Amino acid sequence: MATDLQIAARKISSVNPATGTLLRELECATESEILAAVARARAAQGSWAEIGVRKRIAKLREFQRSLHEKKTEIAEAITREAGKPFAEALTTEVLVVLDAARFLIDNAYRLLGDEPVPHGNLATRLKTGRLVREPYGVVGIISPWNYPFSIPATETLAALVAGNAVVLKPSEFTSLVALELESLLHAAGVPTDVFQVVIGDGATGASMIHSRSGLGIDKLIFTGSVATGKRIAVAAAERLLPVVLELGGKDPMLVLDDADVDVASSAAVWGAFVNAGQTCLSVERCYVHHSLYEKFLKASVEKTNKLRMGNGKDHGTDVGPMIHERQLQIVELQVEDAVARGARVLAGGSRLPELGRNFYKPTVLADVTHEMRIMREETFGPVLSVMAFDSDEEAVRLANDSEFGLAASVWTRDRARGERLARRIQAGTVMVNDVVSCFGISEAPHGGVKSSVGRAHGRFGLEEMVRLKYLDVDLMPGMKKVWWYGYGASFARQMEGFLDMQFARGLGERLRGALRAAGVVRRRQL
Ligand code: NAD
Repeated sequence: MATDLQIAARKISSVNPATGTLLRELECATESEILAAVARARAAQGSWAEIGVRKRIAKLREFQRSLHEKKTEIAEAITREAGKPFAEALTTEVLVVLDAARFLIDNAYRLLGDEPVPHGNLATRLKTGRLVREPYGVVGIISPWNYPFSIPATETLAALVAGNAVVLKPSEFTSLVALELESLLHAAGVPTDVFQVVIGDGATGASMIHSRSGLGIDKLIFTGSVATGKRIAVAAAERLLPVVLELGGKDPMLVLDDADVDVASSAAVWGAFVNAGQTCLSVERCYVHHSLYEKFLKASVEKTNKLRMGNGKDHGTDVGPMIHERQLQIVELQVEDAVARGARVLAGGSRLPELGRNFYKPTVLADVTHEMRIMREETFGPVLSVMAFDSDEEAVRLANDSEFGLAASVWTRDRARGERLARRIQAGTVMVNDVVSCFGISEAPHGGVKSSVGRAHGRFGLEEMVRLKYLDVDLMPGMKKVWWYGYGASFARQMEGFLDMQFARGLGERLRGALRAAGVVRRRQL
């Protein structure tokens, strides 16, 4: 009889989404293989932590050097397996990782160091405190297919530099890119057991979380859909596994009445169609002030119609295929629903079978409403959905009327106005006059509100990779503390005086408190 450790071997196929060509078949790791990988990682992690941050940074430097050297090869591998245009593989994947490495090389030593905790309370001034950052141990990373290199790599680099070992379960659609990451890291001197890739699908990922306490991972960094994220949160709760959940987005773009229509429409077109719209930060809801609405739509449609679709390996391609037909069907259904409820298709709106089964034309929809699925559910495809608003107040209300809160953008010539509105939008990031690019700012935290938990990137992403320990040292080790046993009436009075001395409003009361606190009361202490 099969036990939970003997899940039958399953195979997954890596396919080029532009051509449908099979790239490779791979076997999914079984639960016992996952447990073995985690055990090897745990055994290797101690010495990885012991070598210290500077030596780990040296490995990152070597990784960065060889990634830079192999940039073209890696970008081509990403395009082959994920379908995105080569230019995007270079910029939104390779460049993002090179820069994330730069950030960690420059800052990890300082950010992972001990941090003094100055005491403000008179009673504890005779002590000294420090924050110490310790690696979790084995960090599990489960990643999606849409940024198959930059997402797992940025998270891995942060986990490794903090002294953790990493077991990565990449998306079943982009295993080969993860194996490229593995080769780069091992060639850079990261020990083979300190970074491991376990190949597999959703069930493999689930086994990684279910793995029994003490034998399993110590923290999980998950990036994927809200539906999977919720399942993971439930499974993680069972064993109190700390998790970061970087989930879906339905990012609004607010084009205010003083925006530059030419710039904003170019941003909308790129923000909606980059990576064929399969970007957590893509522009999914576009709200335009009614005074600019028709002009904005006209400019967006003209620009959309000029986009060149094709295989991402051709350097002239702007928009590549979607990852698979199932994703494309979600888009089709949402567009159908929107049209049935009164939306106008101004560009696209159909497949491009002559290019292949995964190609969907960049689509511009006008007159959408919040009653349509396309404005409520994540679309994750090349659709720019536009609706008009009348006032800033209404724009903010519409932007916040969503169960998602990853990022948003505000478009205006008045920076102060943009910043004021940005503060009122419920999102992890709000950009004034830009879209999507916040993901490439290595210093900036990436994460959302409402439908995401925790942060990746920058200082806060690094903090997710360590346990905080507060280290408290007493500076008067030969002295019994006044608050220890041996209570009595005089001690109570002395303490009342002490509280008055520190917290009473009036100066006189504070002075009287000080006298009472200082009154020498001999006390028999235990
Ligand atoms: P997905 O949730 O289907 O899968 C993500 C990963 O989880 C894959 O590796 C998959 O094999 C694994 N998985 C599936 N079921 C699992 C389970 N029960 N237990 C453990 N692991 C499981 O998502 P996807 O289709 O690969 O990616 C697209 C989604 O990811 C979109 O919703 C997008 O918005 C989101 N995303 C978010 C961010 C972010 O930073 N917030 C970035 C990129 C993508």
